[in-house]
Amino acid sequence: MTAVDIVAPAISIGERYRDVVSDRWPVTVAPQPDELLSSWLHRLAYANGVSPRAFARVLGLNPGMWWSAALDMRLPADIAKLLYAKTGVTPDQLAAMTLSHGLPKELLLPLRDNGHRDSSAWLQFCCRCLADDAQPYFRRRWRLATRVSCTEHGCRLRDRCPSCLGRIAAFDQAALVPQHYCVACGYDLRRASIPYLSPATRTLDRCIDDICSLEAMTQSPSGPVLIRRLLSMPSVGGYYSTMILTSLSTAARTYCAQRLNLPSEWPVEGAKDDDEEREARRLRRLIPPTSDHRAWIELLANTLGRRRGRPAASKGNETGIKLPDLLGAYAKMSPASGRPAQERIGTERRP
Ligand SMILES: [Zn+2]
Ligand SMILES: [Zn+2]
Repeated sequence: MTAVDIVAPAISIGERYRDVVSDRWPVTVAPQPDELLSSWLHRLAYANGVSPRAFARVLGLNPGMWWSAALDMRLPADIAKLLYAKTGVTPDQLAAMTLSHGLPKELLLPLRDNGHRDSSAWLQFCCRCLADDAQPYFRRRWRLATRVSCTEHGCRLRDRCPSCLGRIAAFDQAALVPQHYCVACGYDLRRASIPYLSPATRTLDRCIDDICSLEAMTQSPSGPVLIRRLLSMPSVGGYYSTMILTSLSTAARTYCAQRLNLPSEWPVEGAKDDDEEREARRLRRLIPPTSDHRAWIELLANTLGRRRGRPAASKGNETGIKLPDLLGAYAKMSPASGRPAQERIGTERRP
């Protein structure tokens, strides 16, 4: 689809939509699993023939930058009430789509755009997920700085349109176009190629994602230490050593995770000998089941600190486990579902 194709039909109901429609809005869209509230709002607007930018006014908001992304962070009670009345989607369902619970706030990507190539974008996406969706939508977990891969497809996420390098700006869409088309250039994000991601980085990403629920973080005494150490992952060296994780692009964060978790220290997949078996038995004694999130938070905080010679998150609990060994054990205990995307199809090797 080209920019010419996606020019909006002449629609004049945007400003007066609230007055025209009395009870329920004509079309209701069901929230999808782990859908971000802003994504649902953009789909709801489109389904009812209103552009996302015009829909801001329907909700009594200024259609400026981030209007829907701001609702992800905090949904005012009057807007929740209006959405419930007009769609039948309950306040609990609406709250579940926000970021106010379930995910550690400190690890969310910030709402800003300084235009710098290596700086963070507020939202990431998996082009294969978007391509598989009947109605493409953005996931809550794609707002986390600790995420660089897709759980479903194993491929690296993107945070920019591969055609114009602009960030996702569906909230600013003035045309009547689904949200998987770039607002700036009209590129279909489902068509993007899949950037390379090393197996070691994919495992680190999956391990962090599995244990980093807000509930687990709040319950573990080592939770705040782990959050601090995750934020300072770039300090392992290289171009980004003075930055914090949330300020960096997906490509830059992937680079940091790869430095932290050097492939040369990673055991070759499938290789087995006596030494490896012995080490595996030692690790099995030291490493708790992956369901024990509290213990894993402490282990990961200690291991990330150990890489930089920092004190243990809790005294007397330094196990001496290296990060690649910890993640190797994690990968065996919690095998990934599905084969990595880059093993199935051709990929580009570098961002
Ligand atoms: Zn995916
Ligand atoms: Zn674009």
